[in-house]
Amino acid sequence: MQYIKPYNHYKALIAGIDTKVPLLNGSYTTAINFDNAATTPPFLAVLEELMDFSPWYASVHRGAGYKSQFSSKLYEEARESIANFVGADSSEHTVVFVKNTTEAINKLSNRLLEIYKDGVVLSTCMEHHSNDLPWRNKYKVDYIELDKDGRLSLEDLKKKLQHYDGKVKLVAVTGASNVTGYINPIHEIAEMAHGHGAEILVDGAQLVPHTPVDMKSLKDPGHIDYLVFSGHKMYAPFGSGVLIGPKKTFQQGSPDCVGGGTVELVTHDYIKWQPPPSKEEAGTPNIMGVLAIVTSLKMLKSLGMEAIDAYEKSLTQYTLESLKNVPHIQLYGNPHDIKDRVSIIPFNIEGLPHDIIANALSQEGGIAVRNGCFCAQPYVQRLLNVSNQEMQQRIANPTLPHPGLVRVSFGLYNTYDEIDQFISLLCKISVNRK
Ligand code: PLP
Repeated sequence: MQYIKPYNHYKALIAGIDTKVPLLNGSYTTAINFDNAATTPPFLAVLEELMDFSPWYASVHRGAGYKSQFSSKLYEEARESIANFVGADSSEHTVVFVKNTTEAINKLSNRLLEIYKDGVVLSTCMEHHSNDLPWRNKYKVDYIELDKDGRLSLEDLKKKLQHYDGKVKLVAVTGASNVTGYINPIHEIAEMAHGHGAEILVDGAQLVPHTPVDMKSLKDPGHIDYLVFSGHKMYAPFGSGVLIGPKKTFQQGSPDCVGGGTVELVTHDYIKWQPPPSKEEAGTPNIMGVLAIVTSLKMLKSLGMEAIDAYEKSLTQYTLESLKNVPHIQLYGNPHDIKDRVSIIPFNIEGLPHDIIANALSQEGGIAVRNGCFCAQPYVQRLLNVSNQEMQQRIANPTLPHPGLVRVSFGLYNTYDEIDQFISLLCKISVNRK
């Protein structure tokens, strides 16, 4: 097949790309990062932007000085550019700044309590814990099943929407899985949910950095009601994230986290909340984190999300082809199904514990991957075909091997050459340790 030529110049855009790391044999090598699903390294342009901002460093919405006014203006303008990047309409949607995807979903689950009352939330069997646990204990939660390849079953979604007969208030689904990389047909799911009077939340943590996303107008039957994502997975530093949702959701009720910034008027017997989004952003805002997201989105836009998507798919396909040559390889999901998939590949080597493989890649090749269950235990459990009881026994007993997989996940700056190094070391690990 034809692979897209490597965008080597992408490497020059990334901070820390030449870092040398120690190997077990005492030598040093240039680190290879195949753990972009956990966190991407920042764009250099993002760090430069933060330095450029430093003369204006001042508290947002908390000062009459010029710098504070200027910081507040940049902070508010950021909402519009972030909304634009994901096709949200700022006349219909509110952009709330949070610290990451996890906080965004927790906040939303609290916000919707008064609105949904005793409604049902449909989550799925492929969610990160952050889009599963926040719904439990607050709502009746049910889980949409998977098909034989580990993709979401739209048949089961349809069945569950019919079964609950108008009681489903929200379908909370990941845009792309952090385990298999599978992209879900979010607009189709949205249309099905809306057809039964439910809303949709898309966990965009693995989707927004890798492929174009369009929330669409609330008038479109396939629109996305809520979208959440994290800056640190899209080439900005840690500590800032985004929750986008319809204005009306945030106009009613009380905020879950209260304090400075959330109120317009307080006496000891009266509180008047600020209008959203301020009502939802308690405490001094993270202006540096927000500027970092805005700059990383500008960079992604200038590189072109379609081009990034195509290149990362090409890296994924190249890796899946190459992995066929690794003795005793075990792949999960459907390795031929690459169309609706971000650049994430889970695997094991038959007979070798996943931690041994991951540590050997690091210690012998300076290649960073992740192993385990990736905060998605129920999904990994399904892929490994392990029962609830066995899962509990194996996690509770430190002498038993923990269930898990090894995961490689690419960013826009990874190359075919790095993949070749990875494959060659993986072959060695497989042959030598078996
Ligand atoms: N959702 C998905 C799909 C993820 O991959 C992650 C992190 O890996 C999260 C949510 C949580 O993101 P954060 O840790 O930034 O809150």
